[in-house]
Amino acid sequence: MRKPETPKGRILTGDRPTGRLHLGHYVGSLKNRVALQDQYECFFIIADLHVLTTRPEKESIASIPGNINEMVLDYLAVGIDPSRCNIFLQSGVPEIAQLNLIFEMLVTLPRLERLPTIKDMADAAGIEALPFGLVGYPVLQAADILAPRATLVPVGRDNLPHVEITREIARRFNSLYGEVFPIPEPMLGSEDTLPGTDGTGKMSKSLGNAICLSDSPEDVRKLVMQMYTDPNRIRADIPGNVEGNPVFAYHDHFNPNQEEVEDLKTRYRQGRVGDVEVKKKLVTALNAFLDPIRERRRQAEQNPDLIRDIILTGTARMREEAGETMRCVREAMGLTYFRA
Ligand code: ATP
Ligand code: MG
Repeated sequence: MRKPETPKGRILTGDRPTGRLHLGHYVGSLKNRVALQDQYECFFIIADLHVLTTRPEKESIASIPGNINEMVLDYLAVGIDPSRCNIFLQSGVPEIAQLNLIFEMLVTLPRLERLPTIKDMADAAGIEALPFGLVGYPVLQAADILAPRATLVPVGRDNLPHVEITREIARRFNSLYGEVFPIPEPMLGSEDTLPGTDGTGKMSKSLGNAICLSDSPEDVRKLVMQMYTDPNRIRADIPGNVEGNPVFAYHDHFNPNQEEVEDLKTRYRQGRVGDVEVKKKLVTALNAFLDPIRERRRQAEQNPDLIRDIILTGTARMREEAGETMRCVREAMGLTYFRA
């Protein structure tokens, strides 16, 4: 049996195209991704078919191309470089759907139904009865990962159970039919969660508490000046809490002047600095961080064909790998009869 070649370090990760990316995405995944593209062969998936698992309506599909455009501009803006990685469109790779169908035979329904993530996604989308495709979300994800025979999967902790499903499917396939797939390893990046501007939980577009990478300096100023801080601090001379205060969490992540941050924290705890000063310094730090990102985005926007070219090139490259995978899969399974 033929075993496809896979380089040791091949990465598959990506995003659903649900809109513009924010500082939370930067902290939790994009920053790491920029570093990974120099160390590994990277395949970054624009997972548009995954959007359909919770939002199959035509209006939702109509918003996908615009979202893809914004998202890929954000990728370029933060320094993801298509000459050093492959950015591909999931729906442009029919082999992923073919592999998905085969993988559906290799996992049981109770195994998938036990995953809390699926139920959470259904709840978040206001869905009562689970669509077949939503229960199968982790199977489609296994097809995304194994179509290019990725060996490493950067994910957040909440997604680890899905990578475990991928590993089980790969093992099961290999034991039934022969060694076609590597058993991919999850790769936990930064475990930091950036809080939202409202101080409740994590920054998230859907919660309306996000600062987007493409927000203007004036938007950033407004969002920061309205940020939640320490609710008990009604005057500047009352000692305040730094811990759990999102303004300081952002200072820690985005203000490179550690001395300034430490000084602000000390004075905040002692009641010797007002929220306004702390926020104004954060506005300055955030805009200094975002300025080069905005500039790269602006440059990318100059070329109207750029995003399309990047996606078509990345998708063609992905199809070479996925096609090779499918040839090996069919051969291993003996699914080769009556073909022209
Ligand atoms: P949103 O939650 O803003 O609507 P989304 O649902 O498309 O966007 P998620 O699936 O929540 O995005 O997140 C995608 C990845 O981005 C996560 O795996 C995580 O690594 C990272 N991420 C998103 N938000 C944050 C955050 N606030 N802090 C850290 N990492 C984050
Ligand atoms: Mg989310």
